[in-house]
Amino acid sequence: MHIANISVPDALNSLRSSSDGLSSVEAQRRLREYGANTIAEVRRAPLWRQFLKEFSHFFALILWVAAGLAFFAESQSPDEGMWQLGAAIVAVILINGSFSFWQEYRAEQAIAALRKLLPPSAKVMRDGQLFTLPAASLVPGDIVLLEEGDNVPADCRLIAGSDVRVNTSTITGESQPKARTPESVGGDVPFDAKNLLLAGTSLISGQGRALVFATGMHSEFGKIAHLTQTATKSVSHLQLEIARLSKLVAIFATTLGLVFFAIGTVIGLPFWTNLMFAIGIIVANVPEGLLPTVTLSLAMATQRMARRNALVRHLPAVETLGATTVICSDKTGTLTENRMSVRQVFVDGALLPGEHPAALSGAGHLLSNIHHCHNLKRSQAAGCEVWLGDPMEVALRSYAEQAGVGGDTPILGQLPFDSDRRRMSVIVEQAGERWLYCKGAPEVVLQLCATRQDGGREMALDDPARQGILKAQEAMADQGLRVLAFAWRRLAKAEPLVEQGLVFSGLIGLHDPPRPEVPEAIARCHSAGIKVIMVTGDHPHTALAIAREIGLVRGPQPQTVLGESLRKMTPAQLQIALDSPEIIFARVTAEQKMLVVNALKNKGEIVAVTGDGVNDAPALKAAHIGIAMGVSGTDVAKAAADMILLDDNFASIVNAVEEGRAVFENIRKFLTYILTSNIPELMPYLAYMLFRIPLPLTIIQILAVDLGTDMLPALALGAERPDPKLMQQPPRPAEERLLSWSLLARAYLWLGMLEAGVALTVFFGVLQLGGWQYGVSLATLDPLYLQATTACLAAIVVAQMVNVFVCRHPREAAASFSLRQNPLLLLGVAVELGLILLIVYSPPGHALFATQAFEPQVWLWIVLLALGLGLLEEGRKYLVRRRG
Ligand code: ADP
Ligand code: MG
Repeated sequence: MHIANISVPDALNSLRSSSDGLSSVEAQRRLREYGANTIAEVRRAPLWRQFLKEFSHFFALILWVAAGLAFFAESQSPDEGMWQLGAAIVAVILINGSFSFWQEYRAEQAIAALRKLLPPSAKVMRDGQLFTLPAASLVPGDIVLLEEGDNVPADCRLIAGSDVRVNTSTITGESQPKARTPESVGGDVPFDAKNLLLAGTSLISGQGRALVFATGMHSEFGKIAHLTQTATKSVSHLQLEIARLSKLVAIFATTLGLVFFAIGTVIGLPFWTNLMFAIGIIVANVPEGLLPTVTLSLAMATQRMARRNALVRHLPAVETLGATTVICSDKTGTLTENRMSVRQVFVDGALLPGEHPAALSGAGHLLSNIHHCHNLKRSQAAGCEVWLGDPMEVALRSYAEQAGVGGDTPILGQLPFDSDRRRMSVIVEQAGERWLYCKGAPEVVLQLCATRQDGGREMALDDPARQGILKAQEAMADQGLRVLAFAWRRLAKAEPLVEQGLVFSGLIGLHDPPRPEVPEAIARCHSAGIKVIMVTGDHPHTALAIAREIGLVRGPQPQTVLGESLRKMTPAQLQIALDSPEIIFARVTAEQKMLVVNALKNKGEIVAVTGDGVNDAPALKAAHIGIAMGVSGTDVAKAAADMILLDDNFASIVNAVEEGRAVFENIRKFLTYILTSNIPELMPYLAYMLFRIPLPLTIIQILAVDLGTDMLPALALGAERPDPKLMQQPPRPAEERLLSWSLLARAYLWLGMLEAGVALTVFFGVLQLGGWQYGVSLATLDPLYLQATTACLAAIVVAQMVNVFVCRHPREAAASFSLRQNPLLLLGVAVELGLILLIVYSPPGHALFATQAFEPQVWLWIVLLALGLGLLEEGRKYLVRRRG
């Protein structure tokens, strides 16, 4: 019989379990027998395939063709140096491919490491106690508790539950929620039988207990995992742009190569020499390594973000974060600590300080109400008994206990809290009688009340009384307290849970301190031109008081919009309301939050929004950046989010935005750096063609720069820490190009030209020193010629060493950045220096790059000229800064 066909006791029996769960000893044994409850990850492609891919993509193919041509040329006309070129190109492909592979691999590892930071957990009964355990430790026979928002951790049979509905879209593809009940079903069992909860689906309402019957790869989800794990890599706008840019540059380089070939033919260069140049130009300018460098710098940013408690779920989010213009934030738990304490109590028509619970011992009904009306679960953690659930309810319960209410009465039924109803009710049995206890937002609860309690008596709840209660609520809310109203009713035998005709018993004002980091984070948002909008389910006065406390609202006339009026606004009205500089949304439901997000999107804002509940999922999906709470958030909200806050803290969002901005800036830094050196590589060819001088830089030497000395410093620029000034600028326009005209002009027309000037000056200086005169041609192996090209190469490399420092910022002085902040930068420069010394002085270097050591005093010129480049650039920056 299938487990869905039998009764609940039989199902428990069949797995040798009970409603108290397994013993932990038995669970350990089963874990050994059945294995961990995890889905084995199917690797996308074996590593060697990924490795080979790096040598067979578009750019690599161009290079293979070039190498083939060179070898073919060698066979046709030996001794033209073509085989060296061929070998060099093959070396390029190998070095570049390996480097790209290494970067991709590291990026992948970085993302995989993030996933481990937030392991899924489950609420499990063991030895008759409730534990929160890693989902991986579940075994068949375990009893798990599930509630709204939870992911189902393994295949289960529901054994008890109320109002359970699941989203099975991951298994069946249908997004309609489906009801689930514990009763057995007859006949054939499809996998969406009414009493089954399958791994990979999630509860969107209700709560229940379920019996695990299949875990890990034995679950339905595990069985189809290898089919569904296609792992579509999400590609960011940025990566697309880089890919497009690389293609453009490749086309540009190829065109340039062809043009040079044509010019060479016209001015009568030997065919093979000419071909070699053309190939060299193409090879030198194809930016093969750019895309992996960008991917790696995005991945490194995700790791830096994770260290600052923001877990990014996919790479594109990093970049969107950096462009964020509006953050819509929850209040409770995100801006505040969600550490509640009772501050004031309104009972028997009087407002009392709440710090001393004993003073309330007279208000028996209110205290029972506080004590019983919750949705907490008693659980075991590290040998201690704790209550799991809403921290506010934990605080209320312990408050009632301090006031002397004891005993533990089982809850017979409940209508759980949700942010749309803003209230919850339970039924308990005390002294043989059944009671309904309700708590919630005062406006809501008061509407359900017919009478009020005063002293021991029930009094009419007339208008003056209602006014008095609402007044008391406002008085508390104005101090930033969160106010709850309590009410109760005695139920007749078998009377169902209906919230009406209640007796109002009192109000409680709870204090929830703002998180200490939040005021500063808000101030940073203000200076960074990011608007922060509080969207809360709480009372407008509470919201406003807190907003003032944390510096979110400073003006005298902030706009507060209630969820109710929000719903009645036309889209245009809402968009206009959103124009006001300070705006708060209070008493808002999740659905209304969605309206705010959409209106902001229509205004062209880049919207980040926080959320924790099941109802928040649509808003999280709709926003550019959906942010779920790592601690208090439901699994459903986390699945819908782009980013998860490990500490639920608003300040972490702001840190993530800062890192996102930094990534964009860093990519620009290394683009400038890499593009600069293309010009001094290109100019020698132009000069050679136009002025018939000896060729100042050979192709192999170009490759030494592009694939040797430039690589590590470029990577180091990608790892720069965020500049503190980054958060004092307005957000970058979303449509702003990575490769702006000003970046191109700075790299090509300014830094590149200067560097070409440095290189050619050194080249001609060395020639002049050796007695060369214009018009004389030099043999390729003439020592003077070898020394001159070597010096030219050294000049480019040294200039790049200076350039890497000026590239740390397009406007700010290089001297204003500390070196200790980026150790990779120093390492990169050190490696760069080591490489050029090897090329200039070591015999293998000589053989490989056709170099020869030059007069030592030439170094002095090189350094002076390179520093000159630095000074000119710093001077330019200085002028730019002064101008504006
Ligand atoms: P937020 O998280 O934005 O502060 P919620 O939607 O959680 O707001 O809560 C909205 C209102 O619902 C609160 O102001 C309070 O009056 C009421 N409320 C919140 N939590 C509970 C609860 N556990 N039981 C009853 N009422 C609650
Ligand atoms: Mg809440």
